[in-house]
Amino acid sequence: MRVNENILISSLTTMRLGGPARYVLEIERPEDIPDAFGFAATYNLPTFVLGYGANTIGHDEGFNGVIIINRMRGITELSQENDTWTGDANGGSPDARRREPSTVGETLAAGPVQRIKVMGGEYWDDVVAYACERNLTGIEALSKIPGLAGAAPVQNIGAYGQEIADTLESIEVYDIVSHTFKTLTHDDLGFSYRKSILNTTEKNRYFVISITLKLQTGQMPRPFYRSIEKYISDHNSTNFTPQGIRAIVSAIRADKLPDPLEKASSGSFFKNIYLTEAESEIAEAKGYPVYHGKDGHKINSGWLIEKAGFSDKLLHGFRVNPKAALVLINESAKSYQDLAAAREEIINKVYDIYGYWLEQEPVEIINPPVKIPGVN
Ligand SMILES: Cc1cc2nc3c(=O)[nH]c(=O)nc-3n(C[C@H](O)[C@H](O)[C@H](O)COP(=O)(O)OP(=O)(O)OC[C@H]3O[C@@H](n4cnc5c(N)ncnc54)[C@H](O)[C@@H]3O)c2cc1C
Repeated sequence: MRVNENILISSLTTMRLGGPARYVLEIERPEDIPDAFGFAATYNLPTFVLGYGANTIGHDEGFNGVIIINRMRGITELSQENDTWTGDANGGSPDARRREPSTVGETLAAGPVQRIKVMGGEYWDDVVAYACERNLTGIEALSKIPGLAGAAPVQNIGAYGQEIADTLESIEVYDIVSHTFKTLTHDDLGFSYRKSILNTTEKNRYFVISITLKLQTGQMPRPFYRSIEKYISDHNSTNFTPQGIRAIVSAIRADKLPDPLEKASSGSFFKNIYLTEAESEIAEAKGYPVYHGKDGHKINSGWLIEKAGFSDKLLHGFRVNPKAALVLINESAKSYQDLAAAREEIINKVYDIYGYWLEQEPVEIINPPVKIPGVN
C-alpha cells in the first residue's frame, strides 16, 4: 500500500478543483484493503474511495480524511460457454432477451460467451479495447469513457445504447461496514439509469475490488443508437464488429466531448430527465423532444441547457460545451464557488423556462460536519 500525504484533490480529479486531501492510500493487493480502512479508523478520519476522478469534484478546503484508490490491475479470462446469450443481463427469459436480426443483414452476437474478470484499477477504456480486440461484443459502445473499471458499476456507466448493467455479472467487494470480502451479483446491484446500490442505498459501503463481465463473440444487433446510425450513414461505414463500433463511437466522442487530459471537465455535469408516460405526453404536447427507449422516456438535458441560451457561454470560468451542452469545461475557474455559481445559474434558468430541475451527475468529496461537544 502506498501512503501519500497532502495531495491536492485537483490533481486527482478531471474537473481539477479541490484543495489537499490529508492522506491518499493506493491499494495494490486485496490484503491491503482492511489495513487502509483500519488506518482511517485508527486516526478517526472519514474515507472516500476514488478512482480516476472523472466523476468526482473536490472542494476548496480539501478533505480532512483518507482517500483510498484501487490500483490493482489485471484482466483474466474465465470459462467460456457456448450458450447464445445476447448481451442483456437484465433478467427475463433467454428467448425474451434475444433480439431479431435487422433487415439490413446484421448478425447477432451468436458466438461463445466469454467472461472476463477485471481488477478495479484497470483503466476502463483499456478493458473495452481488450474486449474489442478479441471480437467480444457488449461494451464497445462504452469506448472512451474516462475512469477506472472499479467505478464503472457505481453509476452504471452508459453511452450510445449500452450500459455496464447489460454485461456485468458480478463484482468482488470489501464491505467497509462488516469488514468482510463479498461477491455481489448483477441482481444485488439494483441497476437503473446512472444508478446502482453503490451510489444510492449502499453508498460508501463497498470498495469494489474487481468486476466480472459476460461478453460474447459477435457484434451488436441493429438498429444501433441513433447517433451511431447517423455516423454510419454520413460516412458510409460498413464495419460493425466490436472494433468497428469502437472506432465509430471514438470518432463521435472525439468530435463533441473534451479529452480530460486536455480540457478539465467531469463529462456530463447534469443527468438527463426521465419522465413518466403521462409527463412525456405533456412534454411532447409542448414540443419538447422526448426519446422513448428501453430505459424509459427521456429529455436530453443538454437540449434544455442549449435552448435556455447557455451554449458556448462562459459562466464563472466554466464554458458550456458548444457541441454537448451537458458538459461544463473548466477553462479558468479555480474555486468550487465558481462551479456552484455556474450550476445555480443553469439550474434556475432551465427551471424557470421549462419547469424541470436539473440534477448534478458528479459526486463531491465533502468533509463531514465537525462535531462540537454539546452542540451537535
Ligand atoms: C469527458 C468525460 C466523458 C464522460 N462520459 C461518460 C459517459 O459517456 N457515460 C458515463 O456513464 N459517464 C461518463 N463520464 C463520467 C465518468 O467517466 C464515469 O462516471 C466513470 O465511471 C468514472 O470513473 P472514475 O474512476 O473516474 O470514478 P471516480 O470519479 O473516481 O468515482 C466516481 C464514484 O465511484 C466511486 N468509486 C470509484 N472507485 C470505486 C471503487 N473501487 N469502489 C467503490 N466505489 C468507487 C467513488 O467513490 C465515486 O462515488 C464522463 C466523464 C468525463 C470527464
